[in-house]
Amino acid sequence: MKIVKIDKKNFATDLDKLRDAYRLFGPVKGEKYTDFEELSGGQAPDLDFMNTRMSAKALVYPQSEVMFEYSLNEADEDHHIMKEAPKDYSPRAVIGIRPCDVKAFLLVQKNFDTPEYKDTYWIQAFEATTFVTYACSDPCGTCFCTTAGCGPFHEEGSDVLLVDDGEQYLAKILTDKGEKLAAAAGWRVAAEDGADGQIESRSQAAEEKIVSEVNTEYLKDIDTAEIYDAPFWEDAAFSCINCGTCTFVCPTCWCFDIQDENRGKAGKRMRNWDSCMFPLFTLHGTGHNPRGLKMERVRQRFMHKLKYYVDKYDNGIQCVGCGRCVRLCPVNIDIRRVCDLMNSYGDKAPVCEVT
Ligand code: SF4
Ligand code: SF4
Repeated sequence: MKIVKIDKKNFATDLDKLRDAYRLFGPVKGEKYTDFEELSGGQAPDLDFMNTRMSAKALVYPQSEVMFEYSLNEADEDHHIMKEAPKDYSPRAVIGIRPCDVKAFLLVQKNFDTPEYKDTYWIQAFEATTFVTYACSDPCGTCFCTTAGCGPFHEEGSDVLLVDDGEQYLAKILTDKGEKLAAAAGWRVAAEDGADGQIESRSQAAEEKIVSEVNTEYLKDIDTAEIYDAPFWEDAAFSCINCGTCTFVCPTCWCFDIQDENRGKAGKRMRNWDSCMFPLFTLHGTGHNPRGLKMERVRQRFMHKLKYYVDKYDNGIQCVGCGRCVRLCPVNIDIRRVCDLMNSYGDKAPVCEVT
């Protein structure tokens, strides 16, 4: 691992040097929100933001994706044959993603890239991507990453970690992919001795600003059947309007639906994000719905993130503490509160106040 310094004045020009080899993506300030978009020529990412409204999930796993195309016109030689839709998996770089959003890809990888099942779309897009992460010197008040297996300067998943250092960025080159990108951008001026310690002290200062937390230490010990029938679910779910916002903004939610969409005689097989919070998600063709009640859907979301994932993968919780669902839920349902209810269930731990 080495650390180089990048003069902020040259940052946009350096990025332009990458364009021959990479498609570039980054946070862009829109009229209402800052969100990830492809950066056009000469456009630099907006790094003066706290965090984007949507995560960077869609850059690897689009909200709507064409899987196959087909024709229903019997005059066509290849009618009724599914043909793979053209895709662009050329190298791309995401500049200015936050550490929590990068770590989230590693959690999602547990589902999309397993020894038994390979999601070719997700894997190809993920492998084509180089992540240049921007460390969070000023985390949001709703961030609780430090107790969710992550942190404001967390490096897991990143290829390069950029740290704000006044007139310059310090860039930790973490992987071969990061090395390749840094060489293409001309980031080769070694930082002064002691840069590592400087990054460490900035990291500690950032961590001290995080006042919000979740307690997770007893989740694995709790009996699944008992917590499933816990009395607090009705109360936890009471105000939910099943809008699905929490799942769509979440970088670690991965559920999807596949459907065929026809226009005239032309058709596309689409994969679209779906949400366990929608009643239709589990509606069977028979009309039966195993999660027909709102309480059952809310319980599923939290059980998946905080119990089933924990038990299945032994990899912590299925949450990186980005705080988006806390900020954006229209009725203030708070995963930190529900996590504490679950963690303390059965008198295994004292009920903790959400800070
Ligand atoms: S964002 Fe809030 S109201 Fe909407 S589905 Fe999620 S928990 Fe329910
Ligand atoms: S569950 Fe909420 S806080 Fe956790 S990663 Fe998803 S959106 Fe962020």
